[in-house]
Amino acid sequence: MLISRDEEIQEVVRIVSETPQPRVVIFGGIHGDEVSGIHAIEKVLFDFLGGKRSLARGSLTLARANEEAIAVERRYVKHNMNRMFREDYGPEIDRTSYEYRRTQELKRVLKECDYFFDFHSAPTADEPFLVAEQHAVEFFSKLGISRVITGWGKFSSGAIGGDAENYANACGAISATLESGSHFNKSSNDVAYRSAISLLSVLEMIPAEESPVSDEPAVFEMHTVVTKEFPDFKYAGEVTNFRFLKGGEVFATQSGKPLAVSEDSYLLIPMKPSDTKVNEEVCYLGRSIKPKLS
Ligand SMILES: [Zn+2]
Repeated sequence: MLISRDEEIQEVVRIVSETPQPRVVIFGGIHGDEVSGIHAIEKVLFDFLGGKRSLARGSLTLARANEEAIAVERRYVKHNMNRMFREDYGPEIDRTSYEYRRTQELKRVLKECDYFFDFHSAPTADEPFLVAEQHAVEFFSKLGISRVITGWGKFSSGAIGGDAENYANACGAISATLESGSHFNKSSNDVAYRSAISLLSVLEMIPAEESPVSDEPAVFEMHTVVTKEFPDFKYAGEVTNFRFLKGGEVFATQSGKPLAVSEDSYLLIPMKPSDTKVNEEVCYLGRSIKPKLS
């Protein structure tokens, strides 16, 4: 096993075994204020550096993605890096910006990857969940995270999309995004760390963990992306992730008009309107396609 820094790309560390496959890539800190993933990948790296773990097969690449935003503890400096993983860029993108340049480096990392895991956290104390496209749901269901949101990929075009997970998918990887809980809660660090360890165990790159992985997760499919179109966007009622909304129920208002769901739905990943710019997505709506069996 060899541990080394990438010679060309800063803040990228590779742990390499004798066998080339599988190639696993984990990103922390694409959003610089989401520290749990950054702590988690550091802890994983120290496990290997300190000899607590060794890699039986394949390679593991760990990246601190948005280093400049991490340094100033902000989501991003100029551009939301998780909308920058694309091939075409509009005139609104500053090509001299750190985030543009950094994304080009990280795209090279994702091109050589079989499994990709992107670590995020949220400003609210939500339960952990995964976002994965249909081809990756079954594999990532083995990690013990109780909720999975799928179906984001079909919206990945135009102003929406450009996320690292779907870029990795397009490069042939099996990918997921982890939302590990609140930025401010230490348990989010543990969720992210445990998920990384589960991923490596499931792939038999490290010995299986003693604790068995829990039951199959509940799966929700996104059917609508809700964009903040006016500065006065406001939620109606309780703002919690996976909140059930009866068909016809009003979940928000903007420009003085109510926004209602067209069918029984779940409010997914509600972001703070004050942190969301006009024309950015503010929340999603989805339906349950696989309830949790209990
Ligand atoms: Zn994030």
